[in-house]
Amino acid sequence: MERSWIEISARNLRHNVEALRAILPPGCELMAVVKAQAYGHGASGVSRLLSQIGVRAFAVATIDEGIALRKEGICGAILILGYTDVCRAGDLQAYDLIQTVIDFPYAKALNGQKIAVKVHIKIDTGMHRLGIPASDMRAVEEGFSMQYLNVCGLYTHLSCAENRQAEGIAFTKKQADRFYDLLGGLRERGITIPKLHIQSSFGLLNFPQLAHGCAYVRVGIALYGAVASNADTVLKPDLRPVLSLKSRVVLIRTVAKGEGVGYDRQFVAGRDSRIAVIPIGYGDGVPRSLSGGNGRVLIRQKTAPIAGRVCMDQMMVDITGMEDVAVGDVVTLIGAQGENALSATDVAQAAGSIANELLCRMGARLPIVIKETI
Ligand SMILES: *Cc1c(COP(=O)(O)O)cnc(C)c1O
Repeated sequence: MERSWIEISARNLRHNVEALRAILPPGCELMAVVKAQAYGHGASGVSRLLSQIGVRAFAVATIDEGIALRKEGICGAILILGYTDVCRAGDLQAYDLIQTVIDFPYAKALNGQKIAVKVHIKIDTGMHRLGIPASDMRAVEEGFSMQYLNVCGLYTHLSCAENRQAEGIAFTKKQADRFYDLLGGLRERGITIPKLHIQSSFGLLNFPQLAHGCAYVRVGIALYGAVASNADTVLKPDLRPVLSLKSRVVLIRTVAKGEGVGYDRQFVAGRDSRIAVIPIGYGDGVPRSLSGGNGRVLIRQKTAPIAGRVCMDQMMVDITGMEDVAVGDVVTLIGAQGENALSATDVAQAAGSIANELLCRMGARLPIVIKETI
């Protein structure tokens, strides 16, 4: 019996791919973002499942994530979204990975390796993280003329796609305009425009029209079904949570009124209490900020509050009054039990974070079980 584990619903992952494909215009494909172990879902298992249903484009953050996918036998395009030391150009070529050109000096340095590599040039349209500034047409044009760079894509990233206030919408429009103005200029100079992409999950859900003319949308969090069910997005496809986080009750003790539980005696029993010990902690990715009554779990389809501080490897839960709870019971930290559910966004909110961070911190230690049917 595993102490704690991550459960992946293959069915819900496939469902989400279909739901997302249904809102893409013709010619636009899903680029599955599987960085950071597919947001804690396990990059190899998720990528294999996606390959089986015809996903042919993947995005990772690092070259080593890309190489790991190739070693798993993943075919199709694999785009590295972040920085790679140019001395690894040989690996880029050997594993047929696509490197992002993060700025103009980087393009020159990569070309200087004299190893033919595929690249997508990233354009900074206002995020001011990576990319050649959209105003610097000459630099982009020069990128296209570099001997060893095969420019097969051009893309940008939206900084406010989640924001549907007038000001947010105006900024997203400005980013798209800067991108397309640059493309217009490149066309005038006789450059054949390669594959284009602009949107991540919220870009697609809030600005679906931007997918027209694009080869890809780069979707992460929506693919994993971890968009808040009440998120105020323009499109609301039926996305279902792919990941559940589970553990078990390993010990139940009674704690007398006035006694403390765990580090710092942060929880002091206000009555004679029943406390369940659960073998999962922040070393497994459960945020420590769920301590002190901020977090809860599901046991026997009911919610129970976390008692005191979340420890590295375990935590305690107050099950006073839940007489049927027994050692061996499954504890759900993210996911559903009967009618009750704790979504990744609920848990992230309780922890003062977002689902992306919560999920991608998971899985360092936990086994991942892929379920075909649930
Ligand atoms: C992580 C990332 C994505 C995916 O973002 P989601 O919001 O999870 O869909 C897309 N594009 C870039 C550049 C990213 O870094």
